[in-house]
Amino acid sequence: QDRKRVVILGAGYGGVITAQGLSKLANKLHIDITLVNKHNYHQMVTKLHEPAGGHLDGDEVRIPLSKLIDDNVKLVKGVVSRINPEEQKVLLEDQELAYDYLVIGLGSDPEYFGIPGLKENSYPLRSLNAARLIKVQIESCLAKYKTDECKDGLLNFVIGGAGFTGVELAGELGEWLPKVAPKYDVPLDKIRLICAEAAPTVMPGFDEELSKKTAEILQNKGVELKLGVPIKEVTADYVQIGEEQIPSKMVIWTGGVRGNTVLEDSGFSTQRGRANINEKLQSINYDNVFIIGDSSIFLDENGRGLPPTAQIAMQQGEHLVKNLEKYLTGKEMDAFTFVNRGVVASIGPSDAVGMVFGKYRIEGKIAVWMKKVVHYRYLYIFGGLPLVVRGLMGNLPKVN
Ligand code: NAD
Repeated sequence: QDRKRVVILGAGYGGVITAQGLSKLANKLHIDITLVNKHNYHQMVTKLHEPAGGHLDGDEVRIPLSKLIDDNVKLVKGVVSRINPEEQKVLLEDQELAYDYLVIGLGSDPEYFGIPGLKENSYPLRSLNAARLIKVQIESCLAKYKTDECKDGLLNFVIGGAGFTGVELAGELGEWLPKVAPKYDVPLDKIRLICAEAAPTVMPGFDEELSKKTAEILQNKGVELKLGVPIKEVTADYVQIGEEQIPSKMVIWTGGVRGNTVLEDSGFSTQRGRANINEKLQSINYDNVFIIGDSSIFLDENGRGLPPTAQIAMQQGEHLVKNLEKYLTGKEMDAFTFVNRGVVASIGPSDAVGMVFGKYRIEGKIAVWMKKVVHYRYLYIFGGLPLVVRGLMGNLPKVN
């Protein structure tokens, strides 16, 4: 029997789980599996605020794919530039891959909402390299303060958007700046860490009491919150927040995401860049294409799109493995249902807030502990007990 080619694009939360699950079924299903990823490692996007804020080293938020994937999966390092679903081909920068079945888990890109100068003059927090750049850039501003003649805005660090990403980053920077500033002879009172949010509260849509509590914690860490005022323009020298113009050389954009632009560019029907799929996680445009995680938009029973989170991507990856097994053996696929296990946001290394099992508010030490549980559970799903032990020992496999 001819072996069918399954190509998985993206080794994020959904892609890795799909590759691992399919690998166990490779012989039974007579499939050859290829996993394409930009890097030879999986990056923990949910932890990027930590290296950005000087807390974790890069190697603590990435795992080499060779340690996660076995020999049944061929790894191809490359950047997807386009998908040609009519011809069943994926175009990388320097090669073409043909597929019979395609799984897309290419994640998301920052959404700039057409705000003038924002894309050109801000730093997104969407990858490990972007996180490292933020850290280096902040240190560079601190260093320049003592050497440059023009000091305008060098010490005004602005975070745009106080969703979960913005809050987690603000918490991290709020704790790190007092530690790093003295190393560069910069008095702390000269530094402003501003977080601007268009909505009237931080983490809009989240539990009101916890949003308030989070705002208090951030303010206690020296974060200047500007709520109910949108960022309207960014230049190399200033940021326009509502009616106020603030000199700044460093705007970090955490104001929202859209689906990876490859989807839109390849002709898939999308909503804010996220491809439309049916309840079985199948593209509405092509039956042999499945799209999971941030790259697609899954509508719940009320017709609302599920948010782009790692938790959902992982559950979709697990579900997709079962569905692909059914699809490839001619059985009816099942609809995906999301089980909400809750959400926990860290506010710096020593504080956190969260809502678990649908209704329980947690904060302080319990929330910090819960955040760790979420992380180790993730390591367990990805690499079993050995990876958990290595994580606990601070000795995750290193990327060569
Ligand atoms: P988001 O879309 O959730 O938040 C972006 C925020 O930016 C919003 O509050 C929005 O009002 C604000 N904003 C938009 N335009 C603005 C402007 N011009 N000026 C000022 N503010 C503006 O994006 P995110 O925080 O990156 O989160 C993306 C997804 O990932 C969400 O679903 C989130 O829940 C999830 N996430 C979860 C965690 C966690 O569980 N700990 C952490 C990070 C992200």
